[in-house]
Amino acid sequence: MLNVPSQSFPAPRSQQRVASGGRSKVPLKQGRSLMDWIRLTKSRKDLTGLKGRLIEVTEEELKKHNKKDDCWICIRGFVYNVSPYMEYHPGGEDELMRAAGSDGTELFDQVHRWVNYESMLKECLVGRMAIKPTVLKDYREEEKKVLNGMLPKSQVTDTLAKEGPSYPSYDWFQTDSLVTIAIYTKQKDINLDSIIVDHQNDSFRAETIIKDCLYLIHIGLSHEVQEDFSGLYYRKCQLISKEDVTHDTRLFCLMLPPSTHLQVPIGQHVYLKLSVTGTEIVKPYTPVSGSLLAEFKEPVLPNNKYIYFLIKIYPTGLFTSELDRLQIGDFVSVSSPEGNFKISKFQELEDLFLLAAGTGFTPMVKILNYALTDIPSLRKVKLMFFNKTEDDIIWRSQLEKLAFKDKRLDVEFVLSAPTSEWNGKQGHISPALLSEFLKRNLDKSKVLVCICGPVPFTEQGVRLLHDLNFSKNEIHSFTA
Ligand code: FAD
Ligand code: NAD
Repeated sequence: MLNVPSQSFPAPRSQQRVASGGRSKVPLKQGRSLMDWIRLTKSRKDLTGLKGRLIEVTEEELKKHNKKDDCWICIRGFVYNVSPYMEYHPGGEDELMRAAGSDGTELFDQVHRWVNYESMLKECLVGRMAIKPTVLKDYREEEKKVLNGMLPKSQVTDTLAKEGPSYPSYDWFQTDSLVTIAIYTKQKDINLDSIIVDHQNDSFRAETIIKDCLYLIHIGLSHEVQEDFSGLYYRKCQLISKEDVTHDTRLFCLMLPPSTHLQVPIGQHVYLKLSVTGTEIVKPYTPVSGSLLAEFKEPVLPNNKYIYFLIKIYPTGLFTSELDRLQIGDFVSVSSPEGNFKISKFQELEDLFLLAAGTGFTPMVKILNYALTDIPSLRKVKLMFFNKTEDDIIWRSQLEKLAFKDKRLDVEFVLSAPTSEWNGKQGHISPALLSEFLKRNLDKSKVLVCICGPVPFTEQGVRLLHDLNFSKNEIHSFTA
């Protein structure tokens, strides 16, 4: 697994990691956090062993680098020396070694295709996979180069043939959903101000100044490229407002660009992307909307133009501490939605049980709203909301008000670290708590249980639900 961001959470010694079966299997050594990795990549150390040179790698060469201290992996045509990264990889060295000396694209995509590995591993770039020498064609010629569409390898066009070794060159790689154009300038620390890139309709231009010379590539695409084809297209959204919800959780409102229309379906999340000391960091978040939001904030802005997020700020959290520093008017990139929740699960539903812990409450916000307004068959919704203390409960009064107004809704708060004044339920998720809470209305009623929270909470919850004879179809657990 080449993923970095989500795995650094929770902290190595935190309660969330200690439980067995969590996804974060390998505790990172001291000094091997994502932030430490970013620091190392900025230290100007030669991480590839090639002193900044980029080379063409043949398949035979790639295969030779298959040991922990000499490990090259190819992702989408680019080859990285991942040995320096081994100890920083939250999924562990063994996960990385599964792709040693080979093409790890598929393995990478299976785990987290959204992770911005280009940015994470840019100092580990060895070069690209060698392609067969091909015939040059020029944009000025009548025939356009085909960049979007499956072109046989023999027709791949390349400027390399024309140019001497010290000149920039470019080539491109494509998968079904992505065209990557790589320009090799053979120059380190290229200044972003000296690069201009334009993409309009079927034309792509990139201009850069290298050693007092202007280098321009102008490519004609066979047809327009659909930018959001992969489903993870990012658009820059502006921070409109930020309000405290609890001592550490805030409601963020982002405005979509004027030409964007985007609504995140129930149960789905998006990825937010920010640059943290020059490295792009991406984390998933679940937008909220509906009556609970309206109880907290009036007026709610239209949900095809604005997105609201409830986000807990961790003081030393890589992403959230940076997010919290943003000023109103600053920009955050937002991906297209992702997730495997199916609204068909609600058909004919009679009993809905929601088990949420901490910010695991976020997917429940839209679900609750939908259940109470759009499921005619619904008889009962019960939310059991697990938190550490009373101060941690998100939208407590809004939930109580909603339950008071709609008798189909019951809300129960459970605290794992309450003060002595708390006379409600206490402890962690347990058989005793669940068996009492999860009573079906009728023996054969159609039931759905949704569960979301820290990984050990969710895993333990799912095990307990199976023990209580809930079938796979009756459980939806939210995970990354
Ligand atoms: P991280 O840097 O990952 O750290 C989190 C905590 O661990 C911090 O306290 C940090 O200090 C500690 N820590 C990390 N590394 C170390 C280390 N090496 N040593 C010691 N301590 C360490 N969250 C929300 O708030 N709202 C949502 O709507 C939401 N939706 C989500 C949807 C999905 C599908 C998933 C999977 C997660 C969602 N999350 C949500 C969680 C979110 O994605 C992030 O995991 C969370 O915001 C923490 O990110 P971070 O980079 O700030 O913290
Ligand atoms: P937290 O640390 O405040 O804990 C909240 C409650 O979770 C605790 O009171 C406890 O009851 C329970 N809990 C915590 N650790 C546990 C453990 N080891 N075993 C059993 N129960 C445990 O939670 P938080 O800081 O708000 O974290 C929320 C978590 O929810 C994060 O891990 C986040 O990634 C996850 N989340 C996931 C999604 C999703 O997958 N769609 C959405 C939102 C949040």
